[in-house]
Amino acid sequence: MTQKLSGIAASNGIAIAKAFRLENPELIVKKTSISNINAELARFDSAMAQSKSELETIKAQTAQQMNDEEAAIFSAHLLVLSDPELLGPITDKIKSENVNAEFALQETANMFIGLFESMDNEYMKERAADIRDVTKRVLAHLLGVSIQSPSMIKDEVIIIAEDLTPSDTVQLNPHFVKGFITDIGGRTSHSAILARTLEIPAVVGAKTVMSTIQNGMIVIVDGLDGDIIVNPDTETIARYKEKKASYELQKSEWATLKNEATITSDGHHVELGANIGTPKDVVGVLEHGGEAIGLYRTEFLYMGRNQFPTEEEQFEAYSSVLKQMDDKPTVVRTLDIGGDKELSYLQLPKEMNPFLGLRAIRLCLEMEDMFRTQLRALLRASVHGNLKIMFPMIATLEEFRQAKTLFLEEKAKLKEEHIEVSNTIEVGIMVEIPSTAVMADIFAKEVDFFSIGTNDLIQYTMAADRMNERVSYLYQPFNPAILRLVKNVIDASHKEGKWTGMCGEMAGDEIAIPILLGLGLDEFSMSASSILKARSQIKKLSKVEMESHTDAILSLSTSDEVESYVRALTTK
Ligand code: PEP
Ligand code: MG
Repeated sequence: MTQKLSGIAASNGIAIAKAFRLENPELIVKKTSISNINAELARFDSAMAQSKSELETIKAQTAQQMNDEEAAIFSAHLLVLSDPELLGPITDKIKSENVNAEFALQETANMFIGLFESMDNEYMKERAADIRDVTKRVLAHLLGVSIQSPSMIKDEVIIIAEDLTPSDTVQLNPHFVKGFITDIGGRTSHSAILARTLEIPAVVGAKTVMSTIQNGMIVIVDGLDGDIIVNPDTETIARYKEKKASYELQKSEWATLKNEATITSDGHHVELGANIGTPKDVVGVLEHGGEAIGLYRTEFLYMGRNQFPTEEEQFEAYSSVLKQMDDKPTVVRTLDIGGDKELSYLQLPKEMNPFLGLRAIRLCLEMEDMFRTQLRALLRASVHGNLKIMFPMIATLEEFRQAKTLFLEEKAKLKEEHIEVSNTIEVGIMVEIPSTAVMADIFAKEVDFFSIGTNDLIQYTMAADRMNERVSYLYQPFNPAILRLVKNVIDASHKEGKWTGMCGEMAGDEIAIPILLGLGLDEFSMSASSILKARSQIKKLSKVEMESHTDAILSLSTSDEVESYVRALTTK
């Protein structure tokens, strides 16, 4: 029977394929005593052998689909599987205590994990993370449950999952994964943002897909309207194929604007930039006619691996982006880890409210060596293009000053070492915490630019978790409270002769664009796949006309009123 579900439209496009459930099974280990020790040892050996061959396949596939760097994590897992220091105590325990292999494995692994994690040594902490992952895999084999990895998918499918972590999402191969649907998450959760970068149609926050959709069912994902059709009949499939074709046609019309500047109907130029996560994304930026990179989320360089990237690796990545951009403005954000972005090898204490915790610049200022390494790599890469650096999650002026001081110290050191660095790097901040938006006039005297991160600014202003679909109605970019903060930031920057960009998802929204134009936003940065649509819209708008509506819009009372006002204006 055909069934229609709905969620939050997270990434444009339409896909029709078989469902593939990506599940994270719970592994419950009970202690039992065994009578046949040899049989138990054989069972353990067989689980080890199966895990090994599975890891070898995943490693080879990851190397082929992604790159060797991402595949390295699986080499580390294979090393753990053959480590006698770990395996010896497990088999000893089975033999001497007559316990089942699951229990012996879990007890021994937990002992090593605890030991390594307590050491003040990054390398040992990484080993703890490896042991945890490998133990999970072997336990799954012993318990007869399967563990899935998105990189193993070799069929055209639509992934159905409770949630996808950002590291699951980086493993998605758009060649096979035609779309995804999750029960939790919002439009600005990072899996949704990555889906837009990979141009995979997605619907998130659909709440009931895991309880409704079984493996192999045919599913339609409509990432344009946030709809999901399960078991569609032939007529529905035909209708969606038509919708897909007309969306493709629309995209080809936008594509004709690729090499044009973004100029309003009254001759005002704004810059349309893209948000990227890895150097590989630059190809898409240029294909979609991006004039700049308004946000390079460097944290993805730190994810999907089992140790910090070295200064050299970072230098390579940053230089590659700058060279590909060929002197076009490139804003690189320093490490923004925390919230929904975790590093497996950085075992930080669990926090009650990670989005309000030790994250982003707070963590970088605490882990100064790690931060200095990134700044050095950026400074060295600066000679290869038009680099601008910004710090995430700045809440106070002191944080900015401290970060800037470290930047200047690293710059001075490099100069002393006669290493060439650019002297024209602008240093700005993300405005994503209300305190900073309110104090923009003070910040504007010291920073070179602002980039408004509305994904977080809305989350913190409305006190509504951006990952929680139950409060997603509070993600209100058009709420006058948000618009007034945005105006405050733009005006403050202009007063000091500085510029303001926006790199939150709001910058690519068709209702937000006319408002932001009227407010005087200088740079709009969005998923590369949204650029041409935005350009086509901006070319039809008059800046002067939009300015004349700003006061009226800002004095409206609710988000809905703002939306209706703008719709009426733009459909006139
Ligand atoms: C933001 O918060 O708006 C932003 C662009 O940063 P991120 O989505 O990576 O938190
Ligand atoms: Mg943010």
